[in-house]
Amino acid sequence: MEIQYLGTAAAEGLPALFCGCEICNQARKAGGKEVRTRTQSLIDNKILIDFPPDTYTHAISYGLELGQIGHLLVTHSHMDHFFPVELIHRHEHFGHHAKGMLVVYGNEAVEKAFYDAVLIDRFRVHPLDEAVSFVRLRPFGDFEAEGYHIIPVPADHDRRETCFIYIIEKDGKCLLYGHDTGMQMSDEAWKCIFDHRFDLVSLDATMGKKHSDGYHMGLFDAVSFVQRLKEQGCIGERTIKVVNHFSHNGEMTHVQLEDFAKERGMLAAYDGMKVSF
Ligand SMILES: [Zn+2]
Ligand SMILES: [Zn+2]
Ligand SMILES: [Zn+2]
Repeated sequence: MEIQYLGTAAAEGLPALFCGCEICNQARKAGGKEVRTRTQSLIDNKILIDFPPDTYTHAISYGLELGQIGHLLVTHSHMDHFFPVELIHRHEHFGHHAKGMLVVYGNEAVEKAFYDAVLIDRFRVHPLDEAVSFVRLRPFGDFEAEGYHIIPVPADHDRRETCFIYIIEKDGKCLLYGHDTGMQMSDEAWKCIFDHRFDLVSLDATMGKKHSDGYHMGLFDAVSFVQRLKEQGCIGERTIKVVNHFSHNGEMTHVQLEDFAKERGMLAAYDGMKVSF
């Protein structure tokens, strides 16, 4: 399997749209890996995870042929993970030769946002019935998509909706995609995670040097998360451990995140990073 990190920032982006803090100013000046767009990932060029407002930028920057992708997993309805109005452009009128259907998978809030966006009056003349469809997921309701076995696991995030992290398996490889979440997950969620052996774990580290009591994690929380997985035998020497989804409020530059991660045998994600496992 290969995961490509298309974007690696929290909701406000990095530098944040309206922010003049030290981290944002430094990112504007340095450019490169210090600049982050909103979190989105791509598995084997086949399964897209999340659909932020930066999807268009990602398609251009990485030369993606999004019209060829048939599956979009959405973690939750927050704007940095789901910006559905753009899906309208998969209609034949705007997206020539888009292949078959794009199936969007998500929770009840994502479903509402989906229909609110694609059924708006201005675009009723371009119905998406042939181009985009929606599948509602339920906790632990596993399914197959293009040969991948996918399990939606309820996250510790916005309690107003059933946010999901995902376990994705194919050809004996297993990925835990853990954005956005804190560590206060349900016992059932932990049990489901503990039932797997992971080749790559991608963990939330939104809060950087700060600790979080839930909703998101900081770097030290991600280290505790890894420790818990180790104790349960879910990860071994060869498991790749990635921290991702960074906010300027975590008060860490990419260089600092990279140093922190390296010392602990982890990788700090940056926009465009590809990892094969
Ligand atoms: Zn987020
Ligand atoms: Zn800032
Ligand atoms: Zn969120």
